[in-house]
Amino acid sequence: MSWNDRQRAMLEAMGLKLWTPPSGSPNTETAPVAATAPRAVMPARSVEPPAAPAMRAPMADADVAIAEPPAPRRAPEPAARSPSAAPAARMAAPVAAPVTAAAAADAALVQARGLAREAIARLDWPGLRDEVASCRACGLCESRKNTVFGVGNERAHWMVVGEAPGEQEDLQGEPFVGAAGKLLDSMLRAVGLGRGEGPPERQVYIANTLKCRPPRNRNPDPSELAQCEPFLQRQIDLIQPRIILAMGRFAVQQLLRSQEPIGRLRGRVHRYQGVPLVVTYHPAYLLRNLPDKARAWEDLCLALKTLDESPPRDDAATAGATPAVPSTTGTD
Ligand code: URA
Repeated sequence: MSWNDRQRAMLEAMGLKLWTPPSGSPNTETAPVAATAPRAVMPARSVEPPAAPAMRAPMADADVAIAEPPAPRRAPEPAARSPSAAPAARMAAPVAAPVTAAAAADAALVQARGLAREAIARLDWPGLRDEVASCRACGLCESRKNTVFGVGNERAHWMVVGEAPGEQEDLQGEPFVGAAGKLLDSMLRAVGLGRGEGPPERQVYIANTLKCRPPRNRNPDPSELAQCEPFLQRQIDLIQPRIILAMGRFAVQQLLRSQEPIGRLRGRVHRYQGVPLVVTYHPAYLLRNLPDKARAWEDLCLALKTLDESPPRDDAATAGATPAVPSTTGTD
């Protein structure tokens, strides 16, 4: 397989260099993509896009590149509990070359962090928290004040997935604590749900696709989303929510691998690793588009109805028996 200019440019933008085999190498098809240095899969800070408006709103019909589905699984590695072990694995391991030209650049990115993905998929809650807190996998670690792991009952039946921390979240280390968070809380309260203490049936776990704030609240970068994805995936595996509410374009695109606008995805039930998933507007968007609040309310009602009709979760059986490796992603 040869690398065309577009693929080379994408790899360069991701900070990856193509490994050039020594002359006389018997098989250039399987040449690994080598990480250049500890910052191998980081976008250069100097290529950040210009600042986005202060509040990110889901841009229902704008395009964004997202990572391909996870690369084929590797042989299990020992869990990387130590904060220092995982980054080393993420950066230094040589990886096999992707096999299809179409997905080459994205697959290279995913494979470059394959070891870490496998290790993250086996972490328990404390290990996952440590890993997020010490993560330096992308450039966002340079500007964050705090990582924003997630909040709520770890066995909550509901899970809300947002986009990325804003200023207040970065300062406080908790998701959705600014104006959008207040709207979210009142929407949840209206249907008897909360993020605090309480029985898991009435509780929501809230997490974002990115655990660190993008500077000036700019849109998440595809490589940042790809780097951070295993953390969210593991949170979902550990929680085993009965319903997921995906709020806004980035959460929806990440979880459903869909480029469709929110307006076309809402109103029906999708699935993420077997869990029913309802798409809705981001609360920051709703703050600026009040008429769509009615639609968001319909989405919440759809989620309630879906959950009502779903088989109950056997909490006794599932506690502590979470899958080590996520299953496939898809929509109904
Ligand atoms: N917007 C999000 O998507 N997440 C937050 O935590 C805050 C604002």
